[in-house]
Amino acid sequence: MDNHTESQRKLNMSHIRSSSKSEEIVRHFLFSKGFRYRKNDKRYAGKPDIVLPKYKTIIFINGCFWHQHNGCKGATIPKTNVSYWENKLRNNCIRDKANIDILNKQKWNVIVIWECMLSHKKIEETLNNLILDIINSFPGVTNNENNRFTTECANFN
Ligand SMILES: [Zn+2]
Repeated sequence: MDNHTESQRKLNMSHIRSSSKSEEIVRHFLFSKGFRYRKNDKRYAGKPDIVLPKYKTIIFINGCFWHQHNGCKGATIPKTNVSYWENKLRNNCIRDKANIDILNKQKWNVIVIWECMLSHKKIEETLNNLILDIINSFPGVTNNENNRFTTECANFN
């Protein structure tokens, strides 16, 4: 027996399973709309899920748990091994922010799609907004009011 309750185990499994599927959904959608991209390009900070060179736009599809979506109910800290998880998740946030800063300095528009934004209820709006943000992107100004996709992760104090 391990420390995980049944519900925590299911939660962890869902975190692992869903992220690559979410990436595929977004890529497939963009391709169907005529956008051409590179995926997981190691040349850029954070090895972005999607790079759209023509639009100078980079897209990360982030799991709400692993990347601690600010204010999202999917971003709860597990109840066991609390300090381990806090440390790990805090480091993920710090690394994400550092990568976005680097990309902004290189004049990339960075869009973060959080996994909860791809739920059945929200996916249509999310993908429509995504296209608007790609087309209307202003390189290097991520996270200002023009961008509908917040790149912020939760604050650890
Ligand atoms: Zn979320």
